[in-house]
Amino acid sequence: MQSNLSSAQTQALHLLQTVFGYPAFRSQQGQIVDHVVRGGDALVLMPTGGGKSLCYQIPALIRHGVGIVVSPLIALMQDQVDALAEVGVRAAFLNSTQSFDEALRIEKLMRNGEIDLVYIAPERLMTQRCLELLSVTPIALFAIDEAHCVSQWGHDFRPEYIKLSVLHERFPSIPRIALTATADQQTRDEIIHRLQLENAMQFVASFDRPNIRYQIVEKANGRKQLLDFIQAQHAGDAGIVYCLSRKKVEETAEFLKENGITALPYHAGMEQADRSRNQARFLREDGIVMTATIAFGMGIDKPDVRFVAHLDLPKSIEGYYQETGRAGRDGANANAWMAYGLQDVVQQRRMIDESEANETFKRVQGAKLDAMLGLCETLNCRRVHILDYFGQESEPCGNCDTCLSPPISFDGTIAAQKILSTIYRVDQRFAAGHVIDVIRGIDTDRVKQWRHDQLSTFGIGSDKSEAEWRALLRQLIALGLVSVDYDNFSSLKLTENSRPVLRGETRIQLRQYKKADKAVKHKRQS
Ligand code: ADP
Ligand code: ZN
Repeated sequence: MQSNLSSAQTQALHLLQTVFGYPAFRSQQGQIVDHVVRGGDALVLMPTGGGKSLCYQIPALIRHGVGIVVSPLIALMQDQVDALAEVGVRAAFLNSTQSFDEALRIEKLMRNGEIDLVYIAPERLMTQRCLELLSVTPIALFAIDEAHCVSQWGHDFRPEYIKLSVLHERFPSIPRIALTATADQQTRDEIIHRLQLENAMQFVASFDRPNIRYQIVEKANGRKQLLDFIQAQHAGDAGIVYCLSRKKVEETAEFLKENGITALPYHAGMEQADRSRNQARFLREDGIVMTATIAFGMGIDKPDVRFVAHLDLPKSIEGYYQETGRAGRDGANANAWMAYGLQDVVQQRRMIDESEANETFKRVQGAKLDAMLGLCETLNCRRVHILDYFGQESEPCGNCDTCLSPPISFDGTIAAQKILSTIYRVDQRFAAGHVIDVIRGIDTDRVKQWRHDQLSTFGIGSDKSEAEWRALLRQLIALGLVSVDYDNFSSLKLTENSRPVLRGETRIQLRQYKKADKAVKHKRQS
């Protein structure tokens, strides 16, 4: 078999085994390495933990000159360099954390080609000094890590990334390899366009993470549900809990601690020293639950994170996939758990609505949120839905909540009509709580004040609990049949799509309500 390999391939395999100590390349690593060694540009889309680093590290060792790695993750550069030094690769970084003398020393090594890999932060790379340094350095390749940072629509957008096209302009003959774990078509197109990678070969790995079990439950009391989930399935395990706000991060960490769980907070509002200390503890100690905003996680390589929980709805499927992808990197079973409710939908829609961004941006964010809501409300396999979003076809997985305990759908037309006509009869001027009170026939002061007990729809839904009506309303909002007017006390409004349902021209299928405490309780996976 060896004889079929080119000399470059033989050399690559040899380095993989002798330097990195792995017997064989994983999935497409071998082809990617070969392509870059020959001087080709590449766009590599591989999930977190897939093994992207070797795709540029090995070509940098084989090709003449220094491999330049552009990475936004300054905090991790030291670790990456240390790991390479351990296996005997000459690596260093250039960023704002080091002394001037140290930088001078590395610059000299670069000019002399006496170093294999140098990690550089994008803002540093763009300086005149650095570009001049590169022009007198023998360069093996440019690796652009976390390439999705170039996407203005993504949540990791870094303006300096857009300027990276200068690498192609200044060094047209040096191969470039862009790598990311975010792979929806839009991000992919943006990377190609902005980094001028039109001629790059695309390598798209499977995005399936079969060992992660996806579970999305109805939110009742999120924190309590989280605690039950951890106690029942993850006692003593390391995990990450994502919350939207800093305040909620603090409160949740506190709540978990009070209940005997070793939880630490992490968000961008904390002192740098506290953040670093918590991150270091999470990485080194066993069984720590990191309660964090999405500021936490990019580039974190902890293989045995057993669960990722979301107490708030992520803004997009990319975000959800990236965050949940931090679970189970060692390949052992892991859970991605989320509690989701009406308030999440209202809150996320409001954040888009109230943001300062332009209309196009809002529209893109709105579409991303809709896709995320589609995942939450789906009656089908969650994994099929996620992979489909990344352009990958698959079969129902048998390892998500909808596969393990299929949701019951029902013809929700009449229930929807009850909600829609009540919204209409209260003149589209009231928020969810009041509308549901009217439907259920609750005689509140407000109901009396507005004489809503006189409405024909008063009490037409007394057969269902408040939580059930909330779940139904949430689905109608997710489906675009009801909108929320944030400028007017979050009052509910009908939309163009409501009319055919009200008239009975369109029938709709909804998800049967599952009481939170009766929701699927999986046994701990063996
Ligand atoms: P990514 O950057 O895609 O998240 P990494 O490059 O950090 O992934 O690799 C993830 C883990 O997989 C690392 O621990 C790495 O050493 C390991 N790994 C990568 N390639 C191989 C391989 N061919 N064989 C065995 N382990 C590998
Ligand atoms: Zn499934």
